Amino acid sequence: MYMMMTPGPTMVAENVRIARSLETGNPDFDLDFVEYYKETCDLYSELLHTKNESLILSGEGILGLEAAVASLTEQGDRVLVLDNGVFGKGFADFVTMYGGEAVLYTTDYMKEIDVEQLQAYLKENSGFKYATVVHCDTPSGMLNPIDKICPLLKRYGILTVVDSVSGMFGNEVRVDEWGIDVLCGGSQKAISAPIGLTLVTISDDAKCVMKNRQSKIASFYANLTVFDSYYEKKWFPYSMPISDIYGLRQALENIKADDKFLERHHTVAQKTRSALKRAGISLYARNGYSDTVTVFQVPKGATAEQILDKMRKDYNILLAGSFDVLAGEVIRIGHMGYNCTDKNMKEVCTALNAVLHDLAVDLKQDIVYL
Ligand SMILES: *Cc1c(COP(=O)(O)O)cnc(C)c1O
Repeated sequence: MYMMMTPGPTMVAENVRIARSLETGNPDFDLDFVEYYKETCDLYSELLHTKNESLILSGEGILGLEAAVASLTEQGDRVLVLDNGVFGKGFADFVTMYGGEAVLYTTDYMKEIDVEQLQAYLKENSGFKYATVVHCDTPSGMLNPIDKICPLLKRYGILTVVDSVSGMFGNEVRVDEWGIDVLCGGSQKAISAPIGLTLVTISDDAKCVMKNRQSKIASFYANLTVFDSYYEKKWFPYSMPISDIYGLRQALENIKADDKFLERHHTVAQKTRSALKRAGISLYARNGYSDTVTVFQVPKGATAEQILDKMRKDYNILLAGSFDVLAGEVIRIGHMGYNCTDKNMKEVCTALNAVLHDLAVDLKQDIVYL
């Protein structure tokens, strides 16, 4: 197996893999499983500093984004789509698909969303039911200041849907303090469980909007209200992927037990960026650096494909290119969750240094992770 240093999926700890292989009961009929499911959701909410209810849905990260939009949007609703990255813009497709009018607020993809500029925009533009915001836009590694954006939108009476699939736990998320209405997460990023689950955390305000809709939600699988009172009724809308949830639970317990988790993400990310910059490699972004993924411009003299191939073939390390407008332009190193250690990043930097030398790329100095 190769070392998987991509920005999700990550490598998975042994105790998570073991948890997923345990014998299971029947999640439809075993009342203990309802308790287990709820406790796991509550643990997740606790780690995000919120009293809001979280739900685990069967489906990877994208399902959570679609479910948030499907459940909130009615025909003709104006939705503010904050767009400074590929995932940011992508929300517009879901909004349109469910009958809403997506109003794009597009800013420089190399910079985080500027809160003062957004405020100026909100003074001139209104009538939004909710806004979509991406915390870490993974294709570019762009981290948006949701700690300031969400409270600002709240002051203008706009609900927020935040995609923190690749941000959460590597970068701090405080749902209640920042007033996030719907928060979307996924199992395979910093949580470091395998791909397969999405998690949605829903505020009372958002639940109220979903309950008071005029029209029906045009989906079953992406309808968050089908989980209403599941705990009281001891009834799930569909059979829950119990083994995936065992794994998720262990992965969340791992995060809870690790009191250096956030701090380590911050120092590893800083050291990675410094190592690249000292060697004269340009980071993609001008500001707004995520602590979960480092994105750098492909240096002159080599292509992304050459670098990625050599990393894989010569050093058994899988890094990621990017896609959409960034395809071929940048390379991404994921250092999130279980992957986020000095040891791993030292190995990646040493290998990357050798690969770039082999490809005769001109570096200011060696890439050394200190
Ligand atoms: C990974 C990711 C998702 C979910 O996509 P997957 O298909 O589950 O990989 C959603 N949003 C962001 C920002 C992500 O990085």
